[in-house]
Amino acid sequence: MKIITKSLLFLSFFALILIGCEKEKESNIDENLELDFVVESAYPNTTGEVVEFQLNGHSLICEKINGEFIYQGDIVLTYEQLGIDNNLKGAALKSISKRWPNNTVYYQINSGLSEKGRITDAIEHLGVKTLLKFEERSDQENYIEFIWDENGCSSYLGMIGGKQLIKIADWAKTGNVVHEIGHAIGLIHEHSRNDRDDFIIIDFDNIIESAKHNYYKNSAAFDYEEFDFNSIMIYPPGGGFAIDSKKPIITKLDGSTYKAQRKAFSVGDVALIAHLCGNGTLIDSRDGNIYNSVKIGDQTWMAENLAYLPSVSPSAKGSETKTYYYVFDYQGTNVSEAKLTRNYQTYGVLYNWPAAMNSEASSTSNPSGVQGVCPTGWHLPSDAEWTELTDFLGGESVAGGKLKETGTAHWFTPNEGVTNETDFSALPGGYRYIYGISYSINQQGFWWSASKGNPDDAWTRYLGTEESSSAIFKDVFNKSAGFSVRCIKD
Ligand SMILES: [Zn+2]
Repeated sequence: MKIITKSLLFLSFFALILIGCEKEKESNIDENLELDFVVESAYPNTTGEVVEFQLNGHSLICEKINGEFIYQGDIVLTYEQLGIDNNLKGAALKSISKRWPNNTVYYQINSGLSEKGRITDAIEHLGVKTLLKFEERSDQENYIEFIWDENGCSSYLGMIGGKQLIKIADWAKTGNVVHEIGHAIGLIHEHSRNDRDDFIIIDFDNIIESAKHNYYKNSAAFDYEEFDFNSIMIYPPGGGFAIDSKKPIITKLDGSTYKAQRKAFSVGDVALIAHLCGNGTLIDSRDGNIYNSVKIGDQTWMAENLAYLPSVSPSAKGSETKTYYYVFDYQGTNVSEAKLTRNYQTYGVLYNWPAAMNSEASSTSNPSGVQGVCPTGWHLPSDAEWTELTDFLGGESVAGGKLKETGTAHWFTPNEGVTNETDFSALPGGYRYIYGISYSINQQGFWWSASKGNPDDAWTRYLGTEESSSAIFKDVFNKSAGFSVRCIKD
């Protein structure tokens, strides 16, 4: 039985490719796709309180139902992702969607869920079509549990850490399960892409009031390649949110409709997942922090600043020889309190050089051989490793723009000449300088190397907005300064 399913899925995969290629010139639509599916919704018959969040400068609207924040109908966002832990309303996040380490997703199926074949078929489909591995959980800490729900279907976005539920209603078919797993590996709805207005028109007059936000575009979305009408992540033209069910909500620009499907990942979905799989994740076992990582040339870098914080000091305290850890603008000594600040959650920790080095000896080698403050399997890059990075990106005058986060949510305007094509996503975390004063948040970011300069100094790289936005700069600074750390894989 399993083998038949697998070959059917293989067939549909190749059929999709063939149809996609054949029809590319006239239309990108597969005429044979299944049309009669129910749009995924966590609570189909319930209307909740509409709440707007600001995340990294982007508006994000959720519906609060049963204490859950539902985004786009069927995506559950955690309080942490929304930055509303404790009293931190609207705090920015390092990254809303985390990938699964080693591209391996662990799962278990709750015994109360009927027709488990819907789940196993969906998982088999994903295993065949993507680089992701799906393995039944034994004792892994981070995993998906598929569970029956009387109301609807929903999933968290990306890996959230710990157990995360994918809720499956009786009406859901294998394709709906694939769609929900799509959310758990970080995909959002195709029709909410940032560039969607170049491809579709949404008739908001024909959407029931409480569901309008399900059709808002996500200005923070990562648009990969072309808009894809075949994506399993797109809503059909009509559907349950329409006031007049005979009229479409979504049309193409010329007013015609398209056929949406819930059968299989499209060629475009598969390409996007392959892109996501090319990058990775690491978990710091010391504190459970999860970081995205990126491969650039032959190097694999953390795509976020290190946030390991064993102790914290006010910026007035400093030393060239003793370890000090700082959080920008935080002047207390309470680690838990410091971790709740917006600056910690966005920019991580500022380390003096002894802390970054974990008191190991300076190195000019490539690789440095200095683990320093980095997690196991990772190390603090030497000056030579930074140079390898900037050489690979075409030299210091242009490498900065390829490493910096785009836009002005964090960087002050104009932040010109910036593409972030590496996904390194460098942020302006500011710094703690030698007299205990903190500077330059939103304007500059500084990163330590493992290589000392003069007796009191060590080499750094920094990025700014004031000079050429696309350049990266190299200089020595006093070891008592507090700078960011990016670790590199051993
Ligand atoms: Zn969905």
